Amino acid sequence: MQSIPGEFLEINRKKRVYQPFKGLSYRSPTERVCDFSEVVLPFDENRARFEASRCIHCPDPAPCVLACPVHNDIPSAMWLIEHGEFDEALRLYLQTSSFPCFCGRVCPHEQLCQGSCVLSKDGAPVLTGHLEAFVADYGTCRWLSEGGLMTSPPKTGKKVAVVGAGPSGLGCAQVLASYGHSVTVFDAMPFPGGLLMYGIPNFKLPRNVIYPQIDRLKSLGITFVPNTRIGKDKTVDDLFDQGFNAVFIGIGTWIDALMEIPGEDLPGVYKGSHFLILANSDPDHLPAGMEKDFKIGKKVVVVGGGDTASDCLRTAVRLDTEEVTCIYRRTEAEMPGSKKDRQLAREEGAEYKFLTQPVRFIAGEDGKLAAIECLQNRLGEPDEKGRRRPVPIEGSNFIIEADMAVLAIGYWPDTTLGKSTPGLQLKKWGEIIADPETGATSRPGVFAGGDAVTGPDLVVTAMAAGRHAAVAIDKYLQEK
Ligand SMILES: Cc1cc2nc3c(=O)[nH]c(=O)nc-3n(C[C@H](O)[C@H](O)[C@H](O)COP(=O)(O)OP(=O)(O)OC[C@H]3O[C@@H](n4cnc5c(N)ncnc54)[C@H](O)[C@@H]3O)c2cc1C
Repeated sequence: MQSIPGEFLEINRKKRVYQPFKGLSYRSPTERVCDFSEVVLPFDENRARFEASRCIHCPDPAPCVLACPVHNDIPSAMWLIEHGEFDEALRLYLQTSSFPCFCGRVCPHEQLCQGSCVLSKDGAPVLTGHLEAFVADYGTCRWLSEGGLMTSPPKTGKKVAVVGAGPSGLGCAQVLASYGHSVTVFDAMPFPGGLLMYGIPNFKLPRNVIYPQIDRLKSLGITFVPNTRIGKDKTVDDLFDQGFNAVFIGIGTWIDALMEIPGEDLPGVYKGSHFLILANSDPDHLPAGMEKDFKIGKKVVVVGGGDTASDCLRTAVRLDTEEVTCIYRRTEAEMPGSKKDRQLAREEGAEYKFLTQPVRFIAGEDGKLAAIECLQNRLGEPDEKGRRRPVPIEGSNFIIEADMAVLAIGYWPDTTLGKSTPGLQLKKWGEIIADPETGATSRPGVFAGGDAVTGPDLVVTAMAAGRHAAVAIDKYLQEK
């Protein structure tokens, strides 16, 4: 193996800075709207090695490492990739991250590792995110063909229940299993993955990237129990009664925020999560009772300005639609979602109407959604987060034709589990109160992490919270 550069490594930084930047390659918009396949083309080995050789190996601590929520040792990984040591690079990522294949694809790298790359000051950052995905895929292919990268350690005899199979629960389960604890993951949905599986569309995170990771966790001895909603089908107390020694809760935020305007319950008005599940899921992975004959509208309006709105728009343009429009109550400058996703959505044919606020959903003669009455807004004073408030202009009402509306305006935690767990303290809006370092909650033996604690955030922060909680759970089990 190539030795990883240390403090005294002599490399020609100037030469590296002036190496040409080749960028990422995307499938053309006209091709990609015809399917749900991944939009970014993968690196081949030569391209990956070249891209990694652009890293100038900043002295410790490198800004990219500091910016990464799990502090991946990115410069060392770049060095290994540059020298073709792809398995070693993956092993390095796996020391700090349970799922480089997810984070390499869906992290907002431009705000995290790549955003802090010193090369981005005068040029283009090293594409560290795409390189992470490259080595993860390389490793997965080898793992699938040659057997596990991971081995199961001896069993400790301790049992932990993980509630929620999203990135926080899976991250927690992976680390606990690597310590030898017996882990059972309960989830309300038929297939594990949480929003990786039921939120983020296939064209950003292909399902065939998720499946091998679930197999990898199963090969570590982790048991998955689907279709089981804790708080309803059984309680946290039931889990302790069944012999689990500790419980981790990573149930995310699955209740869609509503607009609370007339007509919101009309047929044709969808909640963002419902729409994404129906439009993106394999029918076999749909929960019982969810309609299997989903039919997209011709004129689809998505309400919202975040990443979920972009995902809904980009899903809709891939289906049999004529017009797909996003309406947002502020201007583009205040939109919280990623600029890159917006650019991709525009290239794929989505349109945007800013300073527009729905006030009523209007039914046609058939009783289904036919139009949306909106108000024109102007920008007012900044709110507590510094974003200028939308102020409706009186009398500016206008109508937008739409036979489908998708509300992508935010999520809240479901409090059923919290309220059925004695001793578990919740915040005002239902988030679980937990120690940010350890995930320990007010109830001994119960830990929590991910969106259920922080509110909607990122895959990487949820995974990191699950991993940190696993360390704390292990300590708790040893002390107990
Ligand atoms: C449409 C969309 C797109 C996104 N895109 C990105 C992106 O590109 N990059 C990024 O970093 N982040 C993205 N996010 C955010 C990211 O997906 C979340 O921050 C992350 O998945 C949170 O992980 P989690 O484990 O906390 O919860 P989740 O992923 O929400 O998983 C929670 C799990 O708990 C289960 N559950 C809920 N209640 C119960 C219960 N009572 N009993 C049993 N199981 C239960 C659910 O079925 C689910 O499987 C996106 C979010 C959405 C909605």
